[in-house]
Amino acid sequence: MKTIDMRYFAFLTDRLKGDVKDVSSAGDVEQLRVKYLGRKGLLSKASQNFKLIEEPDDRRFYGRGFSEFKKFATSVIEELQAKYQDEKRIDKVDLTLPGRRDFSGGLHPLTQVLEEIIDIFRGMGFTVETGPEAETVYYNFDALNTPHWHPARDLTDTFYLDIPGDDKLNWLLRTETSPVQIRVMERKRPPIRIIAPGRTYRKDKPDATHSPVFMQVEGLYVDKGVTFADLKGTVVAFYRALFGPETDSRFRPHFFPFTEPSAEVDVSCLFCRGEGCRVCKGSGWLEMGGSGMVDPNVLEGVGIDPEVYSGWAFGLGIERIAMLKYGIEDIRLFYENDIRFLEQFD
Ligand SMILES: [Zn+2]
Repeated sequence: MKTIDMRYFAFLTDRLKGDVKDVSSAGDVEQLRVKYLGRKGLLSKASQNFKLIEEPDDRRFYGRGFSEFKKFATSVIEELQAKYQDEKRIDKVDLTLPGRRDFSGGLHPLTQVLEEIIDIFRGMGFTVETGPEAETVYYNFDALNTPHWHPARDLTDTFYLDIPGDDKLNWLLRTETSPVQIRVMERKRPPIRIIAPGRTYRKDKPDATHSPVFMQVEGLYVDKGVTFADLKGTVVAFYRALFGPETDSRFRPHFFPFTEPSAEVDVSCLFCRGEGCRVCKGSGWLEMGGSGMVDPNVLEGVGIDPEVYSGWAFGLGIERIAMLKYGIEDIRLFYENDIRFLEQFD
């Protein structure tokens, strides 16, 4: 009996020493206290063995082991309590700890790209104009010289608004930001030098490169003697500011109702610098958007004399630029509001 009892307190002592090594907080200390000194703890259980020992000498021996261990455990735990009390206080002013993260949110990647674009154009003397997203057929198509047969006017391509009493479907969600240009030209006289950023809508089935809502920026410059060379110079300077000084641009003839002549703008591929890669499908060029000289019919429509004034306009897609800049392969990510995607752009 004697030897077993001695082993029991020696065993408890070793066990406590082992447990102490795992303590790293005030909470751990409290758990240790409960385990050894608590009402249902190991020491309390050991005290119940007294009555099972018949020999008075054995009982004394056991009693000595018991009180020695109790003393030892109490001092160890008190020491730990004191230590972690102190550390808790130090924690509050520990200058070596990393700073707490401020959950103030970040700007959406499209907003970041848009702000960068606005900055570049502001630097070239453009001001920002905005207009309504719900537009009339007049501003969205007629005033922009869009022929009546043009497919963009189709119910299958455009979100017309079902407004009671509007049987002719006069209202729609704008399909481009060009209506802003008409509104500005109606109320301002040249020189006009603006960009119009904003959301636009088309009935596109969402896939990796199409979204029914997307963002555009359009630029417009109207003054005396404005030429296609001015357009080229501005567009080239813009894409160099955005994508880097080695960026080349090229203009391919195209048709847009609003401009005549019209051209598609391509820039040299950012990834292969013209060598040909997967992103540019081997061509070395990336399509960026439309441009051209404002059609004289459009100027006449807003009361600006096309014999005196001329102008150019261009448009580009914000998502397209953000996708190229950040290497994003699916346009839908911009509109799903998945925080795991968005927080990468903080
Ligand atoms: Zn390429």
